[in-house]
Amino acid sequence: MANNAKAPGTLIVLVGPSGVGKSTISRRLAEKMHLMYIISTTTRARLPKEDEGKTYEHVDQDVFFRRLEHGEFLEYAKVFDEYYGTPKHPTLDYLASGQDVLLEIDVQGALQVRFQYPNALMIFIMPPDEATLLTRLRDRGRDTDDAIEKRFRGAKREIWMAKGSRAFDDMVINDDIDRAVAEIANLVRQKKSPGGI
Ligand code: 5GP
Repeated sequence: MANNAKAPGTLIVLVGPSGVGKSTISRRLAEKMHLMYIISTTTRARLPKEDEGKTYEHVDQDVFFRRLEHGEFLEYAKVFDEYYGTPKHPTLDYLASGQDVLLEIDVQGALQVRFQYPNALMIFIMPPDEATLLTRLRDRGRDTDDAIEKRFRGAKREIWMAKGSRAFDDMVINDDIDRAVAEIANLVRQKKSPGGI
């Protein structure tokens, strides 16, 4: 690399089932480690507590599929009957400019990222146990009983897929938010150190 060329940033991917506390961990980690948090595009309806453009960019299916056809997503997946995708821009622009980037996505998307960016740091966040996950899903107060059951089954499927794929560099148990954030921050530091992970 020429002396004045900037090393590309590190692509960090956090994955984990609904209710595992991924969003809180992502926000805290992005702040602590100065990571650029990428806002995903989704066809899912906006929740009352979500600010447009802060957690997601909400679009209809026509817009989503037009962007997909134009190759505007780095990865995408259908999760619980809705589509979610990571926009290539600004993700690739940040990486090229040397900024570290954080994606918070599902396991299907993560496998696409692993294939395209073998050097990404991919971490799967696990609940302490199934009962805790079910309680957290119920406590969010966001879903009907049917939806909770669907998310719980989806969560178990994601955990099997994550374990089976061996695509993840590490699995971190979210038994305590502060501890989990500190553990992931350490993994990021190791990855960025010369000769790391
Ligand atoms: P929720 O609707 O609960 O916000 O998200 C449902 C699932 O979609 C979560 O596992 C979340 O991480 C995942 N997700 C959010 N954004 C993306 C994305 O851009 N790509 C993929 N593949 N999954 C995403």
